[in-house]
Amino acid sequence: MKFRAHPGETTMIEIRPSVAILGAGMAGVTAARALAERGYPVSLFEKNGCVGGRMASRREGECLFDHGCQFFTVRNERFRNRVESWREQGLVSVWEHRMAASDRGQITLLQDDAVRYVGVPGMDAMLRGIANEVHTQLDTLITRVERTPDGGWTLVSAQGPLPDEYEIVIVATSAEQAAPLLASSPLLSGRAASVRMQACWAALVAFEFELETAFDAAFVRNSPLVWIANGGSKPGRAEREAWVLHASPIWSREHLEEDPDRVKELLLHSFCEAVGIGDVRPARLLAHRWRSAAPANALGTGFLWDDELALGAIGDWCSNPRVENAFLSGLAIADHLLAQRPRAAL
Ligand SMILES: Cc1cc2nc3c(=O)[nH]c(=O)nc-3n(C[C@H](O)[C@H](O)[C@H](O)COP(=O)(O)OP(=O)(O)OC[C@H]3O[C@@H](n4cnc5c(N)ncnc54)[C@H](O)[C@@H]3O)c2cc1C
Repeated sequence: MKFRAHPGETTMIEIRPSVAILGAGMAGVTAARALAERGYPVSLFEKNGCVGGRMASRREGECLFDHGCQFFTVRNERFRNRVESWREQGLVSVWEHRMAASDRGQITLLQDDAVRYVGVPGMDAMLRGIANEVHTQLDTLITRVERTPDGGWTLVSAQGPLPDEYEIVIVATSAEQAAPLLASSPLLSGRAASVRMQACWAALVAFEFELETAFDAAFVRNSPLVWIANGGSKPGRAEREAWVLHASPIWSREHLEEDPDRVKELLLHSFCEAVGIGDVRPARLLAHRWRSAAPANALGTGFLWDDELALGAIGDWCSNPRVENAFLSGLAIADHLLAQRPRAAL
């Protein structure tokens, strides 16, 4: 840990180590915020043009589709406190919805006491605004993390080497993308490579007319689909049906390299079967492939950390495939760093 004295003063100010966080999903943004709040100089790098990762929302005309994460639930007290604070800020609401199960068009309404939360107006609402809090570089795919001769880190992006040096690197991507970025630590890289990420094909569907189903979301059985939900029933969205369909991990794997135009037609047909209507043409029909949707064998460790290298990894794959676990993973690594480097008296 480094300290310096202000000119003419005797008190010592701790100089916090600089941190690069790669990936701006729930885990990366949570760690970035927690460390920045404690005075760490944090830089966040994201390959996409927006933050959110798998909590993405996509606007198509009047419709807003949450095409990845659908909702989240709360078990942990720290997450509950954060969710309450997001609710007070209007960024999160409870999703009051009618739940059902569908089996080849047979609909059974479910009595379901689970409290499900959604971001407002989109799933990623709580993660936006991070660019105002920490230095955030979007559209920056990090391809390599390199050790410097003095024991620091530099980053190489798809556009070339980046100029700054960091003392700590935290990889907050999905497991498959993390393994090569963690190559300096064979142990961490090996743990990331041991996690298998499952794919998920999604289709986004809107009709000219309302289907007026008796439910807002349904678990689907005996179908290529496992889940269908009308985003129009979520709070803060336009009251217009916007259906998101998720295919099962097995079907998605079997059709991984299929033409998206064919996939969306197949999933639309399964949807019509699941809601018990004849094939109808939608006004909008899109397909989205999540190559790394969910870890099949998450590590359950919370986060990974190599103390000698000051290199770590976070994400749902370190814990469990849920938003809450991604949040807790980001918080856990921040707690760990803060405990290792206790705040100096100023
Ligand atoms: C279809 C689907 C449905 C889901 N449904 C639910 C649900 O209902 N409830 C629930 O709790 N969870 C659900 N989840 C899981 C939930 O979305 C995840 O657990 C959570 O969002 C993971 O957050 P993360 O930060 O670990 O990873 P991510 O959200 O994947 O974030 C990783 C980020 O890293 C970026 N990145 C990757 N590689 C690089 C690189 N080389 N350089 C820079 N940036 C990079 C990515 O673009 C991404 O933004 C669902 C996920 C999917 C895909």
